[in-house]
Amino acid sequence: NKTILLNSRPVGKPKPEDFKIVSAESEKQLSEGEMLLKTMYVSVDPYLRGRMTDADSYIPSFELNHPIESAIVAEVLGSENKNFSEGDIVTGLLDWKKEQISDGKDLMRVDPDQAPLSAYLGVLGMTGLTAYLGLMNIGKPKKDETLVVSGAAGAVGSIVGQIGKILGLHVVGIAGSDEKNEMLKQDFGFDETINYKTTQDITKAIADACPKGVDVYFDNVGGSVSDAVMFNINNFARIVNCGAISLYNATEMPHSISVQPFLIQKRALMQGFIVMDYASQFPEAIGQLSQWLKEKKLNYTETVVEGFDNIPQAFIDLFDGKNKGKMVVKV
Ligand code: NDP
Repeated sequence: NKTILLNSRPVGKPKPEDFKIVSAESEKQLSEGEMLLKTMYVSVDPYLRGRMTDADSYIPSFELNHPIESAIVAEVLGSENKNFSEGDIVTGLLDWKKEQISDGKDLMRVDPDQAPLSAYLGVLGMTGLTAYLGLMNIGKPKKDETLVVSGAAGAVGSIVGQIGKILGLHVVGIAGSDEKNEMLKQDFGFDETINYKTTQDITKAIADACPKGVDVYFDNVGGSVSDAVMFNINNFARIVNCGAISLYNATEMPHSISVQPFLIQKRALMQGFIVMDYASQFPEAIGQLSQWLKEKKLNYTETVVEGFDNIPQAFIDLFDGKNKGKMVVKV
């Protein structure tokens, strides 16, 4: 058995040395209510970076020399828990361990016949829920409006843009490579794309891609890309502050525009979003996403890294944009 511990709190971009892979004892006999799980797929997510600091947040920090946890799909190898049987496949927040004992609390059984198992970490998991619930609750998209999404080729962004198209909006994606942008147009139906790494004047590029201005901005990245969007918002625009990956590794905050004048002049709404606050809407959201998948209106892609030991590097690679769609590790 093996586990991955937080070895040091990253300063700037996380490094392999911030993690420690250690052998763990094989798990003991099961007590009543417990089950033995074998990890199959591990989700690596940008938000884990925040949990590696000791700053106060909406979710507790990881402790040094303790296992890191994230969403995992696991097989039940043995069970003394009356709610789960050997052979069941479950998902939930679990430790980065090859095998572990769980009391089953907050774990959900998934159906391998409904969707590939990794999808329960992406389009039918936290990132799909984030895309749908953030867009619907705060973005409030209306047909024929214009939606801009940053981090567009990632797990959340690629689903946000497609939902925008399903609902009849003009959709513009911002991502970090021409190859990703090609995918957004070809595979996901985005109308226009902008490569934020090669475009000199992003404000103008957004104006060109959004002739009627921006009604909804789904922000996954923050920083200068988001500043550029602010110059293009319409009256009564809605801005979903979902993520700020461009700032997660910052050791000092960059200079940024003040958003207040834009919000006032345009009577725009900007609201922070945390998916867990919308748990009561998860069943409805999963129902809708599954339906769209079945109808082939919604498509998704994944970057699958193989091997338990590669979990830390897969996580680090998120900050270099090495993934298209959801980044998962197959153990
Ligand atoms: P992604 O699949 O989008 O992976 C991260 C992507 O971010 C990379 O592929 C890269 O793409 C882009 N990126 C990395 N560094 C930068 C940078 N400096 N500037 C701009 N883009 C960068 O991750 P997720 O879809 O899982 O998450 C997207 C965002 O949503 C994150 O900010 C995350 O924290 C947030 N989130 C928030 C939730 C909530 O409840 N609020 C829940 C889930 C996610 P590229 O090549 O385009 O640079």
